[in-house]
Order: sequence, then C-alpha cells, then structure tokens
Amino acid sequence: MRGARGPRGRCRRGAPHLHLPGRGHRDGTDGRRRRPARRNVLHGRPGLPARHAARRAVPRRPAERRDPRRRQPVLEQRRERRRPRGGDRHRPPAQRKGDAVTRLAPERQALRDAVAAFARDRLAPALPPDDGELSAEANRDLLKGAVELGLPGLLIPEEHGGGGGTQLDNAIAAEELGAVDAGFAAGLNLTMTVPGLILAAGTPEQKERWLPCIVAGETVLAGAMNEPSVAGSELFDPRPGPESGYRTRAVRDGDDYVISGAKAQWVTNAGIADAYIVFARTATDRPGVESTSAFWIPAGTAGLSCGPRSRLLGLRTGFHAEVFLDEVRVPASFRIGPEGEALRLLMSATPGMAVGLAATFVGVARAAEKLARAHTAARHSWGRPLREHQAVALDLAEMVVTVRTARLLVHEAATALDQKADPSELAVLVPAAKTRAVDAAIQCAQAAVRLHGATGVTTGAGPERLLRDAWTGYSCDFTREMLHLGIAVALPALDR
Ligand SMILES: Cc1cc2nc3c(=O)[nH]c(=O)nc-3n(C[C@H](O)[C@H](O)[C@H](O)COP(=O)(O)OP(=O)(O)OC[C@H]3O[C@@H](n4cnc5c(N)ncnc54)[C@H](O)[C@@H]3O)c2cc1C
Repeated sequence: MRGARGPRGRCRRGAPHLHLPGRGHRDGTDGRRRRPARRNVLHGRPGLPARHAARRAVPRRPAERRDPRRRQPVLEQRRERRRPRGGDRHRPPAQRKGDAVTRLAPERQALRDAVAAFARDRLAPALPPDDGELSAEANRDLLKGAVELGLPGLLIPEEHGGGGGTQLDNAIAAEELGAVDAGFAAGLNLTMTVPGLILAAGTPEQKERWLPCIVAGETVLAGAMNEPSVAGSELFDPRPGPESGYRTRAVRDGDDYVISGAKAQWVTNAGIADAYIVFARTATDRPGVESTSAFWIPAGTAGLSCGPRSRLLGLRTGFHAEVFLDEVRVPASFRIGPEGEALRLLMSATPGMAVGLAATFVGVARAAEKLARAHTAARHSWGRPLREHQAVALDLAEMVVTVRTARLLVHEAATALDQKADPSELAVLVPAAKTRAVDAAIQCAQAAVRLHGATGVTTGAGPERLLRDAWTGYSCDFTREMLHLGIAVALPALDR
C-alpha cells in the first residue's frame, strides 16, 4: 500500500516518478525534466542554466587581466581604479552613490543591480492596485523571473546546482526586493533559506532529490511550525516542560510516519507551496525542544490541506494560510535530520531566514525614506518645497541615518554568518539585525506617513502600505520581545 501512496519520486532526469491526480509529482514537482533557463537576464546569454545566473552576476575579467603574463602590479591596478573617468558608472565602488556605507564589491553591485532591475521592471508592474492580493499565477510568473536571476538557489552550493552565494548576497538581493514589495520578498526568502535545514542535516539522497528542484523554481517551500493553540514564542522557552511545545504529532508506523495536527494561519506560502516542511512532535515524554522533528511533505499528499488565504495587516501580496494534517503518511526517509532535533536544527541552520527578512525590512525603510524625500521635494508650503523647512529636513536626515544603520547591522550579521563567526556572537547579531531592521522600517514608514499629510493615510498612495508591511514584521519569524530575550540569553556567553 505504501508503495502506491508513498512519495518516492525524484525530479531528476531518468529517475522514477509517481504522479498524483491533479497535483503532479509527489516530490512537490511536476516530475518533468528541468530545462535550462531560456535567457539569463544578467548577461542575456541564451541557454545558460538558471542555476549559474547568480554566479554569472560576477563580471568576467577582461582577457589581459586573466593572462598572468600581462597582469598589472596590484598597486597600479588600484591607482587606475581610483582615477575618475567622469560619471557614476566609472567610479570605483566606494565612490558610487549609495555605496559609501557598504562598499560593495563589483560582483555584488552586479547582483544588486540585476535584482533591482527585476524588482523595478517585473515585480512593481505586477503588483495589484490598491494593495490587493497577488494571484498565484502572477506569483509563479514572478518566480520564473527570480529563477532567471538564480535567486531561489542563491544560497545552495554549486555542487547541488545552486549559485553558491553568501548570506551577504542574500541580504543585498532581499533589500532590493523588499524596497519594491516586502510580501513577495518574504515569500521568496522562505524558499531560499529553509533549505538550510536540508543542507545541514539532510541525507545525500535528500539533497540530490530536493535541492535541484528548489534551484529550478519547481519547488516553492513552506515551513509549517506555529500552531493555533501554542504561542509561537514557546520555542524560545529555555526550559520547556514535557507539556509545552507543538501539538502536531508524528507517530512512527513501520517505515513511515503518520502526522496529524494543524498549523496556524500565518504559514508563509501555504496554498501555493509545492512542499511543506512540517514540524511535529515525535515524542511527548520529553521537552518540545528535544522531541520535535521536521518532515518534507509534498503538496498533494493525502491528508494535507490548507485553509483559505489569510488577510493580514501587511505583506498582502504574500500567501499565508492554515495547514491541516489529517493522518498524513510520509516515508521515514522524508524526515530531515535526527529524530527530535528539528528545533535545534532550525535555530542553527536557518539564520539566513532572519537575515533575509531583516534585509527585506531595510528595503521597506529605504522605500519609505525615498517616498518621503520625493514628496517633500515636490510639495510646497509657504513658498518653498516642504523639505526646505528645517523641521522636515531634520526628519529626512533622521530617516537616512535610520536606514543606513539598519543596513550596516544586517550586513554585519550576514558577514558574520558567512565567516562562520562564534555562535555566541551570532546569537546576538542575527536577532539584533532583524529587530533593528523592523524598527527602522516602522520608524521610516511612520515618518513618511506623517510627512505626506492626508495623502499619507490614504490607501494606495504608498506610505500607508509600507507602514502596514513594516508593522507585520514585528510578528513574523519571532516577535521583537522574543528576539531581544534571545539576545539577553546569549549575553553571558559573550562575557567569557
Ligand atoms: C507575516 C507572517 C508570516 C509568518 N510565517 C510563518 C511561517 O511561515 N511558518 C510558521 O510556522 N509561522 C509563521 N508565522 C507565525 C510567527 O512566526 C508567529 O506569529 C510569531 O513567532 C509569534 O508567535 P505568536 O503569534 O504565537 O505570538 P505569541 O507567542 O503568542 O506572543 C504574543 C505576544 O506576547 C509576547 N511574549 C510571548 N512570550 C513572551 C515572553 N516570555 N516574554 C515577553 N514577551 C512574550 C510576544 O512578544 C508577543 O508580543 C508568521 C507570522 C506572520 C505575521
């Protein structure tokens, strides 16, 4: 029986697959062969596989610089780079507008510019008017564009077909998307960062089977943890008793697990995901932190269903819904990591999720600052542009400082992750980046609403959507209080 129902298929060429009526492949894919992306937007080179797109964001060196015999001395190269040739385009990175703080390397500028172009040319026009909901079809279409840029697989190593990018790359991309639409950015961030679980603890077969489908944009992921009757902050309880933790249960039955329970209405990408990573208790005689396991459940698996799309204060272009599990049967080989270790794994293997979200909210803060700057330049009172009144000018200056300090902290956290900094350092930096970025988004969006006067509180005008998006950031992926408590718990380790 299990052989007929069990999701055993692969999405790789020539591999066996099983089809479900109406939902395609049980791995969360349609089982078809992946084709290379038709066009790589970074270089416009036909036939270049999408998975290489992020790497190709790095500009190729001219031939004479690749030839070691014709290599210039390093100092001479540097001098040449410093020589101004007129216009922003030819200035060295540190002198470009907007680069003074972060001093991005040329390959990162290329990534940022490509993602910014995608956000401007494809994401912005696709957004529904008056803050309506993005359709699932429009979301898929945008995902195709993201695949051309190599975004879904940006953090997946090259050996698994991904871009082999860094957390700093992720932060740079997420800020650009967040500056245009935080709902889409947050959904993509989830698919980009949850694979950290598989990379950290997946078996070679799981990696081979699932990661390439994520890179190719065939598998949108959802991470189903929070439950309606359990406080999301429970996860941070340092000494949970046997009664605490999630209620969703996974019971071993031969070579399978049978999973039953419900996940809260905020599960990102629920309803459009191709695979759900569900957290469930595999024992109840131990604290939740020692008895929760993670399972890969392809959409369409019998017993898995989603509620209607939730309507939130902000991030309305995202997809959020309840997830119901009614005796869902999955093979034991679909458990990710050791039994009972999923919560520890979540905290150690997916810090990129918080960093990506943080960068998304830096984008929101930046967008609010930009709107406020444009509005106060265009609108006049007492015979001059609003921004020439000193009180307004000081507000604008404050917003710029807020955006840039938040970005610095996010980049510091991303860089610390890339450099595999001490865990006690990361335990402070990562939550600090997330809370600072959301604070910055709220502060800037509030100022933008205020500086827009009545327009600021008018639906569809811009600033009010940013403020609602910013506020939603406080409640997603752990609240501000819980992140600060996490920092407080980590502090003693810094004393040593
Ligand atoms: C846009 C969005 C997307 C989301 N996506 C997902 C997803 O993909 N998957 C998923 O599983 N979940 C998701 N969530 C759920 C989210 O992670 C939780 O809502 C969040 O962790 C907070 O949990 P809660 O709502 O249960 O708040 P609670 O834990 O009930 O907290 C309520 C309030 O009490 C405070 N509080 C609680 N305990 C303490 C304490 N010990 N000390 C001080 N203050 C405390 C909190 O800070 C908060 O202010 C999402 C939520 C949103 C809004």
